[in-house]
Amino acid sequence: MCGIIGIAGNHHVVQDLYDGLVTLQHRGQDAAGIMTYDGKKFHLRKGDGLVREVFKVHNSAGLKGSMGLGHVRYPTAGGYDPAESQPFYVNAPFGIALIHNGNLTNYIKLSKDVESNNIRHLNTGSDSEVLLNVVADEILKLHEPKLTPQLLFQAMERVYKRITGSYSVIMMIADHGLVAFRDPQAHRPLILGKRVDGPSFEYMFASESVALNAMGFEVMRDLKPGEVIFIDEKKNMHSHIAGKSKMTPCSFEWIYLARPDSTIDEVSVYKARLRMGEYLAQKIKAANLEIDVVIPVPDSSRSAAIPLAHELGVKYREGLMKNRYIGRTFIMPDQATRNKSIRYKLTPIELEFKGKNVLLVDDSIVRGNTSRQIVDMVRKSGAKKVYFASCAPPLMYPCVYGVDIPTKKELIAHNMTVDEIAKSLGVDGLFYQDVDDLVKSIAVGNAKIKDPCMACFTGKYPTPEVTPEMLEEVEKIRGCESLQDHAAGFESGMSDDQMSMM
Ligand code: 5GP
Ligand code: SF4
Ligand code: MG
Repeated sequence: MCGIIGIAGNHHVVQDLYDGLVTLQHRGQDAAGIMTYDGKKFHLRKGDGLVREVFKVHNSAGLKGSMGLGHVRYPTAGGYDPAESQPFYVNAPFGIALIHNGNLTNYIKLSKDVESNNIRHLNTGSDSEVLLNVVADEILKLHEPKLTPQLLFQAMERVYKRITGSYSVIMMIADHGLVAFRDPQAHRPLILGKRVDGPSFEYMFASESVALNAMGFEVMRDLKPGEVIFIDEKKNMHSHIAGKSKMTPCSFEWIYLARPDSTIDEVSVYKARLRMGEYLAQKIKAANLEIDVVIPVPDSSRSAAIPLAHELGVKYREGLMKNRYIGRTFIMPDQATRNKSIRYKLTPIELEFKGKNVLLVDDSIVRGNTSRQIVDMVRKSGAKKVYFASCAPPLMYPCVYGVDIPTKKELIAHNMTVDEIAKSLGVDGLFYQDVDDLVKSIAVGNAKIKDPCMACFTGKYPTPEVTPEMLEEVEKIRGCESLQDHAAGFESGMSDDQMSMM
């Protein structure tokens, strides 16, 4: 997962890009990049680390221009090579810079095609570099010295025919303008806003609405599935649907990845989480347990735990405190580091646990290691009974659309029943959200989203190119990567830490 921003402004955009990226920092903490265009030249700075570590006043002054792109990255397939951080750039045709959030499922075939048939060199293992070269190739094939919106859309229709998977993309084309596009399933989020500037407007595309709000841009709308939007040099907006399919946005955005103060495809992340808590409460009520206190595992499950406690008529208490200055355990490169740092990062307030029947609430259970250690800690704090609730259904399958869900083998729910998982975590009762209730939690906010992507819970991948053979291949590649002791191939948001800073 990554965070992306593009601005077509009237003044230098570097400050807005920087500030906007900071609001999207939860979507990637591995690397950051900004590229601007000043009417003559592109200017680029990218590097490893947090936005505030990569950009300093003294090294960002050269990022001139009123059009620009910003990217925060969590590593996808390929690992930590700094060359893979974005934006990517090609000099022909025109000069195009591109940022991408998502994962192309036909990346391997496509890269062969780009190298042998389009006679282009790929310098990294990044699917985003391949995507940029496919776009460049299709625009070049038009053989036109200047792009009209119609010509651009013609090329983009051909691009959509060549690529599969998930892609929310923003590009700058020198002397033409800013282009944003979203895959036909609308898997990954992308939203457009405008800001009044005297008699004219400035436009901004971003992964999440929170970036628009924070920068004083008024939300216009989410990009439609398969939509290409072109903001030309005179700031005229042109739109075209370049590929059609059923809309299946990623449900994990609402569970965990996005910030609660964002609205994605008209569904408030916060409200969706409240509803997840309400639905989960009904399931727990039916079990007729004696629960004294509901305690969230900070921070992303807080929004769900409050209505959950309310529905159960039980006290809500913050019994686990998190050190907000420690990076999210999940992003550390190997399991050993991860295991060590959990206790260090979460501290129990013993008073809230001693002699009580406790219900812990978390957004999801992935490998089960974090949950097991939290349960152990809570027991040592004197809890009588420990129950556990997950706002997400059991995670059983990997994601091929750009979110870091580990291989099947690593997922605790993959080959265990709920009772077996409860035993393995050491809890007296375990409750998972039902798939139907999760769909309802989201669809209440937008009736058009009848069928969000749930593939990591159900194994039903919404795009036809994802076959059992392809999944086997993914397992093999990712299996090797985890053996090499890095989290390559997977990515995840970091909303927890971001939230706790607010
Ligand atoms: P786990 O059960 O995997 O030890 O940890 C569960 C918690 O950590 C969840 O709340 C989730 O936020 C986070 N987490 C840990 N590992 C992963 C992972 O591989 N992918 C994702 N998406 N989240 C993870
Ligand atoms: Fe999101 Fe899961 Fe679908 Fe991946 S498989 S896009 S994480 S819902
Ligand atoms: Mg968590």
